[in-house]
Amino acid sequence: MVGSGIAGLAAAWELTSRSSDASVTVFDPGPPGGKIRTTQFEGRAVDEGPDAFLTRVPEAVQLCAELGITGELVGPAAGSSMVWWGGRLRPLPDGLVLGVPGRLSAIARSGILSPFGALRAGLDLLLPRTEIPDDLSVYDLVAARFGKEVATRLVDPLVGGIHAGRTDELSASATVPQLVSAARRSRSLLLALRTMGSAGPTGPVFLTPRLGLGRMVEVLVSKLKERGATFADRAVGPLAPTAGGGISVDGGERYDGVVLAAPAPAAAGLVDAVSPSAATGLREIDHASVVVVTMSFPAGSVPVPEGVNGFLVPRTAGRLMTACSFASAKWPHWGTAGRTLVRLSAGRSGDERAIGLGDDTLVERLSEELGIALSQRLPAPDSARVTRWAGSFPQYSVGHSRRVASIDAALASDQPGIALAGAAYRGAGIPACIGSGRRAAGILLAMTSPGRDRGLGVG
Ligand SMILES: Cc1cc2nc3c(=O)[nH]c(=O)nc-3n(C[C@H](O)[C@H](O)[C@H](O)COP(=O)(O)OP(=O)(O)OC[C@H]3O[C@@H](n4cnc5c(N)ncnc54)[C@H](O)[C@@H]3O)c2cc1C
Repeated sequence: MVGSGIAGLAAAWELTSRSSDASVTVFDPGPPGGKIRTTQFEGRAVDEGPDAFLTRVPEAVQLCAELGITGELVGPAAGSSMVWWGGRLRPLPDGLVLGVPGRLSAIARSGILSPFGALRAGLDLLLPRTEIPDDLSVYDLVAARFGKEVATRLVDPLVGGIHAGRTDELSASATVPQLVSAARRSRSLLLALRTMGSAGPTGPVFLTPRLGLGRMVEVLVSKLKERGATFADRAVGPLAPTAGGGISVDGGERYDGVVLAAPAPAAAGLVDAVSPSAATGLREIDHASVVVVTMSFPAGSVPVPEGVNGFLVPRTAGRLMTACSFASAKWPHWGTAGRTLVRLSAGRSGDERAIGLGDDTLVERLSEELGIALSQRLPAPDSARVTRWAGSFPQYSVGHSRRVASIDAALASDQPGIALAGAAYRGAGIPACIGSGRRAAGILLAMTSPGRDRGLGVG
């Protein structure tokens, strides 16, 4: 495996689950987990990057079951989300699916849309079916059905927030395939989503191990070692074909197959020599940078709205902050007596201000914005932790799925034995990354002949 993020680890898990004779090496210069990083903050294990996974997409729930840690999973405290719009925090209306309204009365009452915007949203029920091309931007899809206000005030903060991207650039088929298929199936998107919503699963939408997502990584690494996988803490250099078939890593060790689970820009550098066209395609996938600032305030000094887990900030609000999680309200196990924890995010595609600011400035500016949102002057936080995630969010621009299919095809024809996995291709959430790792392992296993001692993996 090249890369020990969750995609690379999932690939190693799949290989060792399906083939007892596979010899697997996982290369990574950094600690296992990649963007999953749980560290101590104020005496508690608090995630610095992702803090939970979706349950609707089953791969993470399934992996936790295989690892025997299902009993350790907890959901967020029941709570709602808000959006910072028009100078104050407003509850997100009920019935939204990725920001798209499922109930018109709820969005009309929310105050997030103007009366004209609410009326325009209702036109979805009357307009003829929208012809959906092969791909289009999320913004174009939503604005065609519900108008610009729903697209900029509801869908952009939610979908743009998930991807740290711009909905006028993000591919609808790659980021919101469920909306595209609903729009293709039905004349009214609202009516199609209402049917989907009522058929949805029950239980928490998100889960996470009580000791943080790092716990999943810790158990996975330990069980992989029990199965004989080797962990090499170094970066892999350019890959090259070897004379008798197979792939060499750094001009040295030879492997039957390689799962390339490093981020796309790093993966491009590794396949330059074996597949220039795959490398070009990989470099076309842009990435956005974000910063996560975790702050601890004395309890009572932050007026957290009752039953609210956090709020989103639309791009058009022009703030540095993109989202706020009332972390100790959302995850009670993160709380310590007498302390209120918040996690504030900044940075998205086209807004690189945050990544360039110093730690003190970030803490000062973001806590000041938090005070404005909550209409209360806040004290300086007692402690703060700044985590910079440079180039961390792959941007699935319009045409992404076709681009990924051509990269896969180029690699398969230029250098069979290399399979891609990770956030840059078919979903950036943890479940999708796990799925991509398992899929890549399956591709390698299908290519290697049965009964042969398999050096996989391997980077
Ligand atoms: C701030 C933040 C919050 C997020 N929140 C959520 C969330 O709440 N829920 C959710 O589902 N998702 C969330 N995500 C998305 C999710 O965390 C990531 O998409 C996912 O963890 C990426 O996994 P990966 O294995 O593809 O890549 P990574 O985790 O990036 O792992 C890639 C690994 O490859 C290694 N590598 C690079 N070059 C080489 C080389 N030459 N040789 C060997 N190794 C190399 C790197 O060191 C790294 O460890 C969040 C992401 C961020 C940044």
